[in-house]
Amino acid sequence: MGETQSALSVACEQLRIAAEKLKLDPGIHEMLKHPRRSLIVSINVKMDNGNVCTFSGCRVQHNDARGPFKGGIRYHPNVSLDEVTALAMWMTWKCAVVDIPYGGAKGGVCCNPKEMSKAELERLTRRYTTLIFDIIGPYRDVPAPDVYTDAQTMAWIMDTYSQLKGYSVPECVTGKPISVGGSEGRAEATSLGVVVCAREAAKNLGLKLKGATVAVQGYGNVGWNAAKIAYDMGCKIVAVSDSTGGIYCEKGLNPYKIYQHKSKTGSVTNYEKCKNITNEELLETKCDILIPAALENQITKKNANKIKAKIVAEGANGPTTPEADKALHEKGILLVPDILANSGGVTASYYEWVQNLTREHWTVEEVNRKLEDKMVKAFNDVHKLAKKEKSDMRTAALMLGVGRVAEAIKTLGLWP
Ligand code: GLU
Repeated sequence: MGETQSALSVACEQLRIAAEKLKLDPGIHEMLKHPRRSLIVSINVKMDNGNVCTFSGCRVQHNDARGPFKGGIRYHPNVSLDEVTALAMWMTWKCAVVDIPYGGAKGGVCCNPKEMSKAELERLTRRYTTLIFDIIGPYRDVPAPDVYTDAQTMAWIMDTYSQLKGYSVPECVTGKPISVGGSEGRAEATSLGVVVCAREAAKNLGLKLKGATVAVQGYGNVGWNAAKIAYDMGCKIVAVSDSTGGIYCEKGLNPYKIYQHKSKTGSVTNYEKCKNITNEELLETKCDILIPAALENQITKKNANKIKAKIVAEGANGPTTPEADKALHEKGILLVPDILANSGGVTASYYEWVQNLTREHWTVEEVNRKLEDKMVKAFNDVHKLAKKEKSDMRTAALMLGVGRVAEAIKTLGLWP
């Protein structure tokens, strides 16, 4: 066996820990280990060179006791059914922790978007949408962006869904461009939530955000916006990375300039007056706040003891394994778990859906104010519970999320 732990085994272990603490009914625990429904599809796409390629994809719906299934769609070469199942489970807990009326789902397509043209990605997205059409919808399951999908991908999904229905259905998907019913603030929402959580965590440690040093792993939508928002709030960004490697600068980096550099060169590395570092080194950077905003399985038992940050705010889903959680907690590092820290994205998605259903359009100030209130409340709920339980924040967040879902399941009963 290799060193890496699968996302699904991490998710099941987390559920086991929460179930034990909550003294959860064994029947409900068993129910929650498995997704309600997993649809596997083969997506045939005509490539630009005329060849037909077949990509494998899926949509996994974990639980909808608290509301319609909700969660992103990921395009990545390493997508697997197990990974998507774990991500769907995390969505269920996440929506419950931040207390929005959704269940959890996730979709994935195993492909390499970096090697595909825009036209190929459009055909892939439209074909995938038709294949999952029967199980999605505004009151059934509402997709959104995730790794390597964006607002344009969501516009294609909305258009395909609407064409098949025969009328426009903007509320079938969130994270859309503003021109077709997207919400103000949605693109930055995950990152704003991460930074708000880091700020609240810093407050609890008596640490000022202004001047706090920050390292960010991942420079996609979540990582880059988190670096930008933290920088605008007065933090010093000392290191950033992407899938090609990272850079470190003790004096601090300007994330806007790094973004331009990455847009031009395809990578954050080789930036003037910076030291190139590896992704492993980035995680071990001496800093106040570490924001993992890339993929799963980054902080493991192998490197947990080398983490020097005071706060870890998880922008990514599943970046830390349970063994690493324990090690970080023992070291006194305050970790704000994914299902809380990155819940700003799905919360703004909820606001987008509400705006679509009511045919309203809110200002960015209104969205951000609602979002911040929701995040601060969720942070305090989890932090209080962690104190009461003398546990880390992950365990408390899981207890809160799993507990709320279990309560809904019990209240609804089983039918037929
Ligand atoms: N993909 C994001 C997440 O993992 C957002 C999901 C959504 O907005 O539905 O939370």
